[in-house]
Amino acid sequence: MFILSPRPDPLGLIEVQDLTKVYSAWSWRGRKTIEALRGVTAEVQAGEVFGLLGPNGAGKTTLVKILLGIIRSSSGSATLFGQPVGSAGARMRVGYLPESLRVDRHHSARSALRYYGRMSRMSHADIDRRSDELLELVGLRGRDRESVKQFSKGMYQRLGLAQALMHNPDLLVLDEPTDGLDPVGRNEVRQVIERLRESGKTIFLNSHILQEVELICSRVAIMSRGKISVVGPIDELVNSKQFETVIFEVLNDLDAPSELPFQNWLQGTFSNIVFFEQTAGNALRFSLAVTTQQEIDSVVDQIRGAGFSLCKLTPKRASLEETFMRAVESSETEVLKDSEGLF
Ligand code: ATP
Repeated sequence: MFILSPRPDPLGLIEVQDLTKVYSAWSWRGRKTIEALRGVTAEVQAGEVFGLLGPNGAGKTTLVKILLGIIRSSSGSATLFGQPVGSAGARMRVGYLPESLRVDRHHSARSALRYYGRMSRMSHADIDRRSDELLELVGLRGRDRESVKQFSKGMYQRLGLAQALMHNPDLLVLDEPTDGLDPVGRNEVRQVIERLRESGKTIFLNSHILQEVELICSRVAIMSRGKISVVGPIDELVNSKQFETVIFEVLNDLDAPSELPFQNWLQGTFSNIVFFEQTAGNALRFSLAVTTQQEIDSVVDQIRGAGFSLCKLTPKRASLEETFMRAVESSETEVLKDSEGLF
């Protein structure tokens, strides 16, 4: 007898190609269309904690709903584990924590997990064994018989993580898992996610909280107006040379009582000035948007060549927040250009 070994997962556990979604909405003016996704292409690999970041209305929930098979795309393709989204094979291997999970208030954590286990057609023995494991994992072991009415928002979210894991899925989709939690609650949820990552689960996390994404995710995509404009490992994004600025400080030892001569020179020499100021310590500080070491060297040469003394130089890497803002701004400009082309 031959036993077929299961097909190994493709490297791209989530694969999305040129995905679009157009909603139709009716108002008193008649029917209008909303392009929620405008050609999204992305890949998430097995074992990653992948963050999808974007402002309100960017299209994050629409993408998640398509991945879960809740709604259909208008065009393009999307697969999970190499199978079309929405297929039974793909759904079985996904766990989902929605943004606002509702657990009936008469439940305890244990009875809620029993309910979700039955929905997944698990046996009684499997439900009991799995519930024990998960209650331990999410730190609710001693509180499992209490009514969820008494739960804090953090405990509630951790119960939500347990329900999403009940059928032991390989991929977890978490919609704003730490939204509305206090720092303690956020930390507890983060620790559970960290344990899941260590156990090899793939996690797709949808969020607008930059700090959370920075702490939890290994890779991030920034989405704005239905498109992914930036994608990459967090370290690369925040250290991206593309958005680097350098702060220079020059001694204000000239005879002139004001900084104007230097300021005039500065403005006549560089077109990439971000700011200029006089410090309390009587130095002249300015920042330039420069991206390479050669550019920094050239600025230093020009400062010295003009007879000024450079006393300090501080390269400044962009934070994830700055990268996020720039990605959102550039996609807004692109949308404006697209719409100008229509007229
Ligand atoms: P948020 O962070 O606010 O949840 P989001 O990034 O998840 O935002 P979506 O909810 O996917 O964004 O919405 C993307 C766009 O599609 C928005 O303009 C939204 O108004 C629109 N939209 C979403 N769902 C529908 C729907 N069922 N019918 C019509 N338009 C919709």
